[in-house]
Amino acid sequence: MKAHDGMYIDGAWRPAAGTDAIAVVNPADEQVIGMVPAGTAEDVNAAVRAARAAFPGWAATPPAERAARLQALHAALDARRDEIAATVTAELGSPVKLAQAVHAGLPVTVAGTYAELAGTYAFEEKIGNSTVLHEPVGVVGAITPWNYPLHQVVAKVAPALAAGCTVVLKPAEDTPLVAQLFAEAVHEAGLPAGVFNLVTGLGPVAGQALAGHGDVDLVSFTGSTAVGRRIGAVAGGAVKRVALELGGKSANVILPDADLARAVNVGVANVFANSGQTCSAWTRMLVHTDQYEEALSLAATAAAKYVPGDPEDPASRLGPVVNAKQRDRVRGYIERGVEEGARLVAGGPDAPEGAKTGYYVRPTVFADVTPGMTVAQEEIFGPVLTILRYEDEEDALRIANDTVYGLAGAVWSADPARAEAFARRLDTGQVDINGGRFNPLAPFGGYKQSGVGRELGVHGLGEYLQTKSLQF
Ligand code: NAD
Repeated sequence: MKAHDGMYIDGAWRPAAGTDAIAVVNPADEQVIGMVPAGTAEDVNAAVRAARAAFPGWAATPPAERAARLQALHAALDARRDEIAATVTAELGSPVKLAQAVHAGLPVTVAGTYAELAGTYAFEEKIGNSTVLHEPVGVVGAITPWNYPLHQVVAKVAPALAAGCTVVLKPAEDTPLVAQLFAEAVHEAGLPAGVFNLVTGLGPVAGQALAGHGDVDLVSFTGSTAVGRRIGAVAGGAVKRVALELGGKSANVILPDADLARAVNVGVANVFANSGQTCSAWTRMLVHTDQYEEALSLAATAAAKYVPGDPEDPASRLGPVVNAKQRDRVRGYIERGVEEGARLVAGGPDAPEGAKTGYYVRPTVFADVTPGMTVAQEEIFGPVLTILRYEDEEDALRIANDTVYGLAGAVWSADPARAEAFARRLDTGQVDINGGRFNPLAPFGGYKQSGVGRELGVHGLGEYLQTKSLQF
């Protein structure tokens, strides 16, 4: 894999301040595929200086010109689809089909939406005798995780640039190579020097330096609740803007009149996609008590199709998880589920058959899960589905909302009005009704402890704007 040994700062690849490096490991075979520099506070300072210097010019650039640069960025990403997909397969372990369709396809789509919005959004509006200006917030510190490594970068950087902000990105240490590819695309798109800067490095070093930097006006973070809480506290102390996209424990509520087989099959696919490493995954399936046994049997049959295998093999539907720590964490949760009395109907804590190397976890389905169990409350972030039973709709609603999280969810019913009425009562940022299609313009983000702020579409753009009103 191609790896740059410097940081992309002020429009060029520059040597890092220190000499430490991070080894990027392919989770399918545990081989090192590249080395990237481990940035320090000094690198972060240089990147923030460049972003600050570039800010007045970029903020004053007419929206149509910013839109043209974003259009060029979209084209540069589009031209790199194959390279992006291959990189994400290598550093995350994503099966090639998913890598093409989602890890490469989705960020290209999202970049396209912001190229368009940058040109059409009303950065000025009239309200009575006032002219209201929507102005860029300033320098953005973006800190991203490894699970959708390019999507999460684009979902922050594209709206920030569209708004007229400048950015310093600290990507996850497990997946820095696709972030370097993104920097190459930015460079090719001809964005002015300093508008986008990349510092690779460890969370507690480079990430912390960026989140706490006095000259960063807004921190946008996606990742664990533990780190998000700390970043929120630091931002609160400095009275700076913060956006947090954190974990989830979303419910997939199958009402008794739904097409059970379809709801279960789509639900299983939703949880096992990306080896379960999706913050919005529907990890709790809620089934009416009369249909419970049938749902278990459907889920076990569906799970059997997810045989862990080499992500490079186009037939593989389930790759490894990202690293050894994550594998051990997920297996630990599976053991905990068994200890607490949940019943395994597929998978388990042992290594998959024949998997001598690679961070593989068996796709696991738990039955007899009660709402208070650890596996029903905590985000596992692995291929683990829990199936809970409910007595009636009120019971289903109570169980669905009985979590500290509120990111996503699903409802299935033969009657769309009934499903919609149920969806309106869920305490969660988005709900898919009868398998509703993903909409890249719809706001994405959490209720409760799933986060603060929204990404995608105009709502995502709004995060990077502040409002001034002029009265006449
Ligand atoms: P993490 O929160 O540790 O890492 C996310 C990003 O934050 C990375 O870029 C990391 O380098 C950075 N970071 C870590 N510590 C930091 C600090 N002190 N200051 C500033 N930045 C810091 O997440 P992880 O360890 O990669 O994953 C752990 C768990 O987080 C997962 O198992 C999962 O539950 C959750 N997670 C959620 C999402 C999501 O999309 N909501 C994504 C990834 C992980």
